[in-house]
Amino acid sequence: LGKAYSFMVRNRIPGGKMTAAQFLGELDIADELGNGTIRITTRQSIQLHGVVKNNLWDVIHRINEIKLSTQSACGDVTRNVCCCPAPLRQNGLRDQLQQLADEIAVHVRPKTAAYHEIWIKDPDTGEREQVVGPPAEPEPDPIYGKAYLPRKFKIALALCDDNCIDIYDNDVGLLGVTEGDKLIGFNVLAGGGMGTTPSKKNCFPALAKRLTFVETEHLLPIITAIILVQRDFGNRADRSQARLKYTIHNMGLPAFKRKVEEYLSEAESICGVPNGTLPRPLPAPRPDDVTGHDDHMGWHEQGDGKWFLGLPIENGRVKDEGDQRLKTAFRLLFSDLVTNCRLTAQQNILLCDIEPSQRETIQQVLADHGVVTVDQISNARRFSFACPALPTCGLAVTESERALPGVIDDIEAELSGLGLADEQFSIRMTGCPNGCARPYNSDVGLVGRSMDGKTGEGRYTIFLGGNLRGNRMAEIYKDQVPRSEIASTLRSVFFQFKESRGSGESFGEYCERIGVEELAKNCEVAT
Ligand code: SF4
Repeated sequence: LGKAYSFMVRNRIPGGKMTAAQFLGELDIADELGNGTIRITTRQSIQLHGVVKNNLWDVIHRINEIKLSTQSACGDVTRNVCCCPAPLRQNGLRDQLQQLADEIAVHVRPKTAAYHEIWIKDPDTGEREQVVGPPAEPEPDPIYGKAYLPRKFKIALALCDDNCIDIYDNDVGLLGVTEGDKLIGFNVLAGGGMGTTPSKKNCFPALAKRLTFVETEHLLPIITAIILVQRDFGNRADRSQARLKYTIHNMGLPAFKRKVEEYLSEAESICGVPNGTLPRPLPAPRPDDVTGHDDHMGWHEQGDGKWFLGLPIENGRVKDEGDQRLKTAFRLLFSDLVTNCRLTAQQNILLCDIEPSQRETIQQVLADHGVVTVDQISNARRFSFACPALPTCGLAVTESERALPGVIDDIEAELSGLGLADEQFSIRMTGCPNGCARPYNSDVGLVGRSMDGKTGEGRYTIFLGGNLRGNRMAEIYKDQVPRSEIASTLRSVFFQFKESRGSGESFGEYCERIGVEELAKNCEVAT
């Protein structure tokens, strides 16, 4: 007998927008062909874990049957396109973002017919029609060429007052610039990415850099030009140096911008717009920048007479466990009461398009199944999330998803003891330095570094000084901290924060102002 290989299968769901039928379909696939759970990801998608090799074709085929796809959800291409998921219709801005995310996702989807040949057609008869995806076109791909990209490529859209999708963490971040309720264009940010290899000095996490401003109708050509530059100048010899952030770092931002301008004609041709549509040279970005963050939890009026409910899902895992029967509750809600949902970049879910008359029933279904709502959890838990890590991620060196809830228990106790339970700040944990849960720009980042060989307890690097707005990097505070000592290590920093914070200063802002070295020194004095 050979090894029983099992796989993770990730969906592509632009903006995390799904119908109830699609969510139920994912639950069915997970129950019948996966490990019985689904995981909402940090990029508004769904991952299915524990798919054994023999079931792989059926899983991907069935995902296409519910009119979703796995194509370019992984691999060295543009991944799932993110945007603010809140269905707030008061001014139409978020609907425009979702529409643009859908258009971009179609534009950057690889045009190869191979995916459909392999995963959509019936392997025996070859007769099943493709359900979703582009028509077969000859290779090479107009954007990706013959060799695709050197590495994965991430795109997201946000509005300045609501950076819930962490725009600065993307290869291309598109920050909407508005005048009143009118979207006039986007500041284009380039070269963000959280992955790093600590043993390699030339590897680093990075926030995207502010590149230019484009009008909304010019988004596809500018995105295409940036991808083309990365395709042709990204490092293909060393995967650890292959992301766009390194291309920009090595070229320098001004030279990179000139290179993007050189590729605009080819990009305009690919996008079918007249040569010279975009200005050369590209203008500077507008001063507009990120000013806020909203996780969209709780009940909200959509602005069209309906409501949505933001539900926190601990670390994105949808399952039945003990008294909390989240999966069963979702089966009931999506079968009967809720028609649409959106997945958030904090691994939570928004139940959308709810009639006012249904609110009470929905609340009752959740209560009957022990599902916790945002008013029943601490702020520490609300603004925390973890990557999957062990046992499903092959790159993990420590626990993350299974470790964070206990760490939050300890942190909650410390914060309550100091009267800081109402503070809002982000806590993010990963099982390795790859940074899938975006720890490097959070207020508190916990990055798995090693495992105690005897006890199996993970040790983590603690980063401090990022913020909920996601536009500032955190710095290393302490390295190799055992999991059981994370909260106690943070205790004296929380104490300093309580004693000497400025007016209205958040935890991350305070840590950044004081500096990690000074914080550590003060802690030593205190102990
Ligand atoms: Fe990503 Fe590392 Fe977490 Fe795996 S363990 S999900 S690679 S951060």
